[in-house]
Amino acid sequence: MSQATTQATALGTITTRAAIVRAPHTGWELTELQLDAPKAHEVRIKFHAAGLCHSDHHITEGDAPVRLPVVGGHEGAGVVESVGPHVSRVKPGDRVVCSYIPACGKCRSCSTGHQNMCDEGRNAGTGMFPDGTWRFHDGSGTDIGGFCTLGTFSQYAVVLEWACIKLPDDIPFEIGSLVGCGVPTGWGSAVYAAGVRAGQTVVIYGAGGVGSNAVQGARYAGAKNVVVVDPVEFKRDMAKVFGATHTFADAQAAHEFVVDTTHGQLADHAICTPGVLTGDIVQAATLVTGKGGKVTITAVGKVTEKSVNVHAGLLIGYQRQLRGALFGDCNPLYDVPRLLGLYRSGDLKLDELVTRRYRLDEVNQAYQDMVDGKNIRGVLIHEPA
Ligand SMILES: [Zn+2]
Ligand SMILES: [Zn+2]
Repeated sequence: MSQATTQATALGTITTRAAIVRAPHTGWELTELQLDAPKAHEVRIKFHAAGLCHSDHHITEGDAPVRLPVVGGHEGAGVVESVGPHVSRVKPGDRVVCSYIPACGKCRSCSTGHQNMCDEGRNAGTGMFPDGTWRFHDGSGTDIGGFCTLGTFSQYAVVLEWACIKLPDDIPFEIGSLVGCGVPTGWGSAVYAAGVRAGQTVVIYGAGGVGSNAVQGARYAGAKNVVVVDPVEFKRDMAKVFGATHTFADAQAAHEFVVDTTHGQLADHAICTPGVLTGDIVQAATLVTGKGGKVTITAVGKVTEKSVNVHAGLLIGYQRQLRGALFGDCNPLYDVPRLLGLYRSGDLKLDELVTRRYRLDEVNQAYQDMVDGKNIRGVLIHEPA
């Protein structure tokens, strides 16, 4: 241990301020950590902005299978501070977005066009690097991982080079941070995972940071009816900005509208993007789809609840499909630049996603605001060093 520490210091260990979770239901703790220098195929990043995604809140709620303690944050953009040996994708000084699932380009998933399932993402829950070690350490010598092997709620983090995607100079860091998870996850859930087509009817459950982008994706793909269900009035209002054609506070009202507007044919797609998935939402989503309909699930629920519990007859009778979507089926190396291109051309609204900005020290308040339904997306802006 002491020898390893000495060696790491010689290579440039730095101190970084970070928000960590030590145990469920204890909130975020602001602390200083030691951060190792990057090893082979690793990059040390100075983060400028981090998206406050619901998935990090699942850690503090005890609903995410994550090794604790952990540095939060899996949406981030910043500048490459230093690189380890053999790094070829980026260099010091590059502006980058971190993809919450890396894309190594070589594994079976990557080489068959499914970078969202890259094998290098296997340590997302532990933050362990492929050599079996961790880069964050606290004062007592405890090894700490970054969520999704990132940890964007830290001023600095070491990440795999495979998680880095160059961020064009004209794109602000806070916009960059959003396209590392929430935007492609939502947009891709509609465009790729569901495969929405022109003229279809789509019902989207939950219009937060992910659902708002499912709305944009469904609309851009040409859906005739983009129906949003969300209990929060502010989110329903924003959903209309993002392209929703009809919004409802509850699933039953949406169901009645869909029956009416489709003359009983029901919806082609239901996409589940709530903050917390429940069995009732999956049931409603299944029943709102018609013959050959498809339910796409892009959210997780309480660890204690099995949210998918649908009678098989409902699937067989109408030949409905029920499928999960990870990262919206996106290929980050292709889709992140593509989505930023759509943002540039005005076809994808990203500025409108950012409701509030917070300092690192305000992370607990930021998540309270999310729980209270005040934000589409909060963004954490790291203090300039
Ligand atoms: Zn996320
Ligand atoms: Zn891969």
